[in-house]
Amino acid sequence: MTTIKLHNTMTRRKEAFVPIDPQDVRMYVCGPTVYDRAHLGNARPVIVFDVLYRLLRHVYGANHVNYVRNFTDVDDKINAKSAQTGREIGDITDETVSWFLEDMAQVGALEPNAMPRATQYIVQMVAMIEDLIARGHAYAAQGHVLFSVDSYAQYGALSGRSVDDMIAGARVEVAPYKRDPMDFVLWKPSDEATPGWESPWGRGRPGWHIECSAMAAELLGTQFDIHGGGNDLQFPHHENEIAQSRCAGHGFANVWLHNEMLQVEGKKMSKSLGNFFTVRDLLDQGVPGEVIRFVMLSTHYRKPMDWTEKKRVEAEQTLKKWFRQIGLSTATLDGSVHRGTIEAIADDLNTPEVISNLHALSNAGDFSQLRKSLYLLGLFDGQIPKWARVEGFSDAETGLIRDLLNRREIARGDRDFAKADLLRDGLLDAGVGIKDTATEPEFERLSNFDINKLDGLWGSS
Ligand SMILES: [Zn+2]
Repeated sequence: MTTIKLHNTMTRRKEAFVPIDPQDVRMYVCGPTVYDRAHLGNARPVIVFDVLYRLLRHVYGANHVNYVRNFTDVDDKINAKSAQTGREIGDITDETVSWFLEDMAQVGALEPNAMPRATQYIVQMVAMIEDLIARGHAYAAQGHVLFSVDSYAQYGALSGRSVDDMIAGARVEVAPYKRDPMDFVLWKPSDEATPGWESPWGRGRPGWHIECSAMAAELLGTQFDIHGGGNDLQFPHHENEIAQSRCAGHGFANVWLHNEMLQVEGKKMSKSLGNFFTVRDLLDQGVPGEVIRFVMLSTHYRKPMDWTEKKRVEAEQTLKKWFRQIGLSTATLDGSVHRGTIEAIADDLNTPEVISNLHALSNAGDFSQLRKSLYLLGLFDGQIPKWARVEGFSDAETGLIRDLLNRREIARGDRDFAKADLLRDGLLDAGVGIKDTATEPEFERLSNFDINKLDGLWGSS
């Protein structure tokens, strides 16, 4: 069996991954707060952890991996959006969830096994908060419940910061109901205009962090294998999740994975810089989801990723070529995958290395393995995408024609004009019209198209 190595943020080392139960490998990833379209940066963790999910399914079996990603559907940003627009909160969150799923499907992300919404787990959150109070790790004050950071000696172990540094570095809210400025909210009161649930501390709503602790325990058990998210969640969100869960007596996550952030043309993406865009914006501009995914995977997840126009163009050209090549192969998609591909993914998701390996497979003409590798990476779902297809031809026919055109290019490069002409004439005879352009030749189906002649040409040249 393939050994997967993952960089564990908690130990700061790359370690061999050993699941608690190989029949039931469990992963939790923090999902979006649903009030707006996902921006490009939001897609990065989704794609990164989708690759890990696909790898785990490949190694342990598709039915032996349980991946949970939540939707935060109770949040002051959602309340603010509702107040601004006059729309019902439920309408906003439902619509945003469906947008998110549509957009992430376009970039090739499989849906997790469970996608719990925070508002469906209030009972579990209240029970966990009561337990934390009973154990002396939390206290109620003025309709709030606060977690007492002081009561958990290992606080800060994940991000490697001391509590003093965190106070200095973070905008810690000093509030009269807090015993200590570091204490964070588990529960807070709601007024009549704000969503709220009855609780032992009055009508209120949960703080953000408790939802992940409660939902992970409910859906994955009190100890599970992997917890993932963006780097920006390490502190305070993940530190707080750990504090809550450990103090409730849970083992919680064994391995922590964090992806680095995304920039655009070397700058932080922000509305004020005018370089802010959503995944949907790109898709609407005609950028294929596979291209977005490819660009994302061209940088290792632990390095900052820079989205550039140059990378987008190169990705599109590369993928077009690869789709044309794998159209020639009918290899089944399951079963063994090229060792170079699997070993690189299993080495802490070294996707840039995988892409190098794909180039090598392409150059070596190993289109069957290229096809399987692209499938494993989530760049190919078994159908050549529409944008890479040519009207009037099947994928296999397109593959044959593109391969013959490739051979013609090579013949021209070798100044073997006789062979180049032979290929052009042969294509025309088989009913394929060719138009040379500045980039790559375009072609069309003529009325005399004959697949047998095309096959014959492919076999004989
Ligand atoms: Zn979380």
